[in-house]
Amino acid sequence: MKKIYLDYSASTPVDRDVIDAMLPYYRENFGNPSSTHSTGQEAKAVVENSRNIIASCLGANPFEIIFTGSGTESNNLAIKGFADANKDKGNHIIISSIEHYSVLETALFLKSHGYTITILPVDSMGLIDPDDVKKSITDKTILLSIMHANNEIGTIQPTSEISQITKKHEICFHVDAVQSFGHIPFTVDMLGIDLLSISAHKLYGPKGSGALYIRKESVPFLLPLLHGGGQESGMRSSTHNVPGIVGLSKAAEIAKKKIHLETDHILKLRDKLINKILDTIENTMLNGHPTKRLPGNANISFAGIKSDVMLLSLDMKGIACSSGSACHSSTVEPSHVLQAIRLESDMAESSIRLSIGRDTTEKEIDYIIEILKDTSHRLRRMNKS
Ligand code: PLP
Repeated sequence: MKKIYLDYSASTPVDRDVIDAMLPYYRENFGNPSSTHSTGQEAKAVVENSRNIIASCLGANPFEIIFTGSGTESNNLAIKGFADANKDKGNHIIISSIEHYSVLETALFLKSHGYTITILPVDSMGLIDPDDVKKSITDKTILLSIMHANNEIGTIQPTSEISQITKKHEICFHVDAVQSFGHIPFTVDMLGIDLLSISAHKLYGPKGSGALYIRKESVPFLLPLLHGGGQESGMRSSTHNVPGIVGLSKAAEIAKKKIHLETDHILKLRDKLINKILDTIENTMLNGHPTKRLPGNANISFAGIKSDVMLLSLDMKGIACSSGSACHSSTVEPSHVLQAIRLESDMAESSIRLSIGRDTTEKEIDYIIEILKDTSHRLRRMNKS
């Protein structure tokens, strides 16, 4: 059976050039960058070269990049590490209601340890109102953590507008850019942020490799999550995952080179997919913002068809996509994101996310449109009988 992967927001295949770049660091150049001999120092040079590449992709300084083990770890380090290091300045943290669980659960953990957490609402398209940010700031506020682009509905937040507020109030601004890095061009200065999380496996790099940008002038230090050998300026002890770090930087380099051409290709396919579904399958609705959305994201509700039933039917036809967040796809409850945009329950329970990537072809999009037509008609007929 022909298999079609439309779940690029959950994870991407590793680019062949990325694999080629990583391979030598498993066997020939396997040294530990902390070793003083030349094998170790060669590995150290490779890590520093990767740091330079990531810094240049973000418009940052190399000493502002810390390598981590994932986007989840970057988010935890940013939030817990900043909160712990700035306890004396205040205990109030603001996040949004559509954050990834790695931000949401971290904030709730801090709440159970005495911090005050404000969870900002979003509108029906998933946008945060910068005025709500302004209104929620108190003299105890130390940190605002807002995602750049949402993993489920794809909505892109007005981060640069929000950063004007955080700058004025001297509040640290953390942005989870796991879904946007490599997919939307930006620099840390364009977004005006102090901390930024990225993850390699969302941009055709390996799983288990991420990074955190830390603006030196506003965030001199984060309390580490991991204590040990003092790697990464003492903020992230652990022997460096050299192949993973090389994979992240190679993936970022390729994404930077390809981003404009690739975005044109992906946007064309995404718009065809969305328009055809909305035009030819009745009782369907696009979730998220119509234009301020990730290029590859199409989140659509098929009224009357439970998303788990739809996913199973599509999987049986060889099509991989997801409902809600992939990390929580075993729950049938509408995700916290769909609840936050206040989708009516029928629409929330019937939403699926089709995410398009670099390797998606027009033929695949045409095929999935036909399958979606057939499947939705068949499932609706079954519901009636
Ligand atoms: N943040 C967002 C927005 C995500 O979509 C994800 C993964 O789905 C993460 C953070 C976590 O990244 P990782 O899988 O590298 O832990």
